Amino acid sequence: MIIVPSMIRLTAQRQAILDMINTSERHWDADELARSLSDSGQSIGIATVYRGLATLEEAGLIESIQLADKKRYERADKAHHDHMICTACGSIEEFAHATIESLQLSVAAEKGFAVSGHQLVMFGLCRKCTQGEQK
Ligand SMILES: [Zn+2]
Ligand SMILES: [Zn+2]
Repeated sequence: MIIVPSMIRLTAQRQAILDMINTSERHWDADELARSLSDSGQSIGIATVYRGLATLEEAGLIESIQLADKKRYERADKAHHDHMICTACGSIEEFAHATIESLQLSVAAEKGFAVSGHQLVMFGLCRKCTQGEQK
């Protein structure tokens, strides 16, 4: 359960967007979110969805990952993790690896760089698509 800071007043539409993201494990892009909202009887124009996503992200209520072509959004209450994206089927796998995390900090420290966050995205083929290729 995410507690919305009192400074942020969410419109009904933004609340609907936030609820849709918070009640799923998905990594949503704006179009998928608009479609899913519409399917559940809450039609929100795509421009409003984009603005709502940007506002919710600014408020720290959702997180985004920047992919080559688009931004995807997910709930902000998960533990830190990075992503592997299948370029064939689009599936997104989450991972976290302590050694990778600490190596990134070492590299930054060597450069005198104060890290405030990071995103690591690996592109490639998921297990299912790799097996499909071998058949
Ligand atoms: Zn795949
Ligand atoms: Zn994720």
